[in-house]
Amino acid sequence: MFDLETHIVHMKDVRNPKECFFISAELGQRCADALQGCLPLLGPASELPAHICPCHGPDGRAFAYVLSRELWNAVKYDLRSAERELFYKHGGVVSEDLEDFKKFLMHWDNDYEYSGQVHCPNCSTSTEDWRTDPAHPFSLSNANTGGLLVFQCAQCGATIRLKHFKDEVVCEHTMPHR
Ligand SMILES: [Zn+2]
Repeated sequence: MFDLETHIVHMKDVRNPKECFFISAELGQRCADALQGCLPLLGPASELPAHICPCHGPDGRAFAYVLSRELWNAVKYDLRSAERELFYKHGGVVSEDLEDFKKFLMHWDNDYEYSGQVHCPNCSTSTEDWRTDPAHPFSLSNANTGGLLVFQCAQCGATIRLKHFKDEVVCEHTMPHR
């Protein structure tokens, strides 16, 4: 229902005026203050038992919240901007060149969380996260949904291939051409 870019789902039935606003639990938590702050200003919800209702998954935890139209109207700008923040927080990159990296992350199905760590075996340059490192020590040149990321080391020019398998990351590198 939700993914890297989508934390808000607005459902509307074409045959009647009913509609529904779902937000992800993560977005709900991020905007908890804004959501709570609006509630005293609203009257009773017209369509729902409350302005905000949790949707529980099989594990008993809320994975989403349903919002009333009134609450949605009051907080939609906060929610839309927080949705963008979550996109960046989870590795979203705006540049069209990195479309493949977004797909790589959407297909992520490994036993560990993706980290942006890159290390160059040739010159020992390393970063905790290539996406946010202000020095940009590595640039991404290729990504695919099979788990491969290819980087160029800015320091020495080596090509670094990170293969993300189910339970490990294998790093291979090729020396720069002289
Ligand atoms: Zn290097």
